[in-house]
Amino acid sequence: METQELKKAGLKITLPRVKILQILETAEEHHMSAETIYRQLLAAGEEIGLATVYRVLTQFEAAGLVSRHHFEGNQAVFELERGRHHDHIVCVKCGRVDEFVDPIIEERQKAIADKLGYTIQDHALIIYGECSQGVCPKKQPMDS
Ligand SMILES: [Zn+2]
Ligand SMILES: [Zn+2]
Repeated sequence: METQELKKAGLKITLPRVKILQILETAEEHHMSAETIYRQLLAAGEEIGLATVYRVLTQFEAAGLVSRHHFEGNQAVFELERGRHHDHIVCVKCGRVDEFVDPIIEERQKAIADKLGYTIQDHALIIYGECSQGVCPKKQPMDS
């Protein structure tokens, strides 16, 4: 499965590429830093260096397999390009990322662009906040 996707993207099949793609495809968290991926590889017994992880992710990005986000206050995170538009909400304390799509927001943006004489090619909406309901692992220590 991963090998086919690599071929389709015009990338030669190498072990690091296959393993990193596997992690991106199976991870519960859809937005991961290079370091998180690196640590998961280590935990799985794969000896792939952090520099290689960065290089492969950059190649994936160039090939359109992943997109890279620079959320404020966080390391760059990568997510598999699934071809469906969504926006992000990011916790400024723990870096947790959630995705959302809101039809009204989408519509309003189109209306604003129309009004100002633009055709939208792309947009990125990022909401920064603090995750609540006690789920934020960074909340307690930072509050005290
Ligand atoms: Zn996303
Ligand atoms: Zn949080």
